[in-house]
Amino acid sequence: MKKRPFVTLETLQKIIEEIPTPFHLYDEAGIRKNAQALKDAFSWNPGFKEYFAVKATPNPFLLSILRAYGCGYDCSSLTELMLAKTVGCEPGDVMFSSNDTPPEEFRFANEIGGIINLDDITHIEYVEKAIGSIPETICCRYNPGGLFVISNDIMDNPGDAKYGMTKPQIIQAFRILHEKGARRFGIHAFLASNTVTNDYYPMLAKLLFELAAEIKEETGIAVSFINLSGGIGIPYSPDDDPNDIYAIGEGVRRVYEEVLVPEGMGDVAIFTELGRFMMGPYGCLVTKAIHEKHTHKEYIGVDACAVNLMRPAMYGAYHHITVMGKEHAPCDHMYDITGSLCENNDKFAIDRFLPRIDKGDLLVIHDTGAHGFSMGYNYNGKLRSAEVLLHEDGTFTKIRRAETPRDYFATFDVFPELFSKLTD
Ligand SMILES: *Cc1c(COP(=O)(O)O)cnc(C)c1O
Repeated sequence: MKKRPFVTLETLQKIIEEIPTPFHLYDEAGIRKNAQALKDAFSWNPGFKEYFAVKATPNPFLLSILRAYGCGYDCSSLTELMLAKTVGCEPGDVMFSSNDTPPEEFRFANEIGGIINLDDITHIEYVEKAIGSIPETICCRYNPGGLFVISNDIMDNPGDAKYGMTKPQIIQAFRILHEKGARRFGIHAFLASNTVTNDYYPMLAKLLFELAAEIKEETGIAVSFINLSGGIGIPYSPDDDPNDIYAIGEGVRRVYEEVLVPEGMGDVAIFTELGRFMMGPYGCLVTKAIHEKHTHKEYIGVDACAVNLMRPAMYGAYHHITVMGKEHAPCDHMYDITGSLCENNDKFAIDRFLPRIDKGDLLVIHDTGAHGFSMGYNYNGKLRSAEVLLHEDGTFTKIRRAETPRDYFATFDVFPELFSKLTD
């Protein structure tokens, strides 16, 4: 699939008159169209709800857009819960799928009407102690162990993952929770990340639906909701075929009819906690070429670095790059595209064939809408960039300003005199 930026050079030039590079740019039209498609694909299930994984793109403007499509929020920390609260979440709108969680976060999640998703059987007592009782609605996270395989491909290794309970534990947990007053139950599992196949959700659904049937048989408890969590991927590479969300929704429906309906569980709600799929393709990192260097290799230095987008450095992840205004030029130059960190893995691309790049060229680094800005950090004293939302009519809004040195030094308030005279 040919990858094209969602923004034109002309629009970018307008934006950079006001907002200097680098910045993350988001595509409102794309976000809306995709959120509607997800809603449509699961409209066969009356209780369906997507809880957007806030960690992917924790910006209240973007979170608010998703509310129009019935989305809630999947959180795993206090500040993510606060963000969900800020954009007006109501009871039932938050899924707290955390792990290794401190008591005050369970307390706050409960206070705002979030559904607590227990990562471990020992957390029953922990939560009871933290909030004084067991909430009426509760979810448990399942980990089947072993390898998760789809048609001979190893998708991931749940046996090696820190999350979730074993089957005997989850069955025991349901018994205990029921005894302690829980009345509405859910199960959850997240077994593979960034899956570029329409088969992942249906396979996971089958596993969870069968577990729900087994739980009912063993304990008499019928779950009310089944949370398929995140994991639907996006085509980062032009060689990947995008997932078809309608085929995925239909695949889950088929398994639902096959497994749940005959068990008398045809009223179970399907929940999802997608992050990457909701935002990934609808964000890009806009950066400017500021240096070229010819040594043992050809380098282009840009004004963004790994603190703005960590995935290439951390996972060796591929992110497609478009040199704006040179879309039709031949890709006859091989470059390493580098940032400025004192780390040799600070490269957005290695040995990448691109059109000839000149200083001042704008580069669009694709698919940074999820796990992009949010994985940012301050190594080397680098500052986080701005975030900009491109609206459907071509206008734009700065939805987060760039950090300034004052932000970087803000936590030195123990020495106020040292930094008080700093100007931005
Ligand atoms: C990260 C995460 C998600 C979102 O994953 P994506 O791959 O972005 O869809 C959902 N649920 C939980 C519990 C997560 O940790």
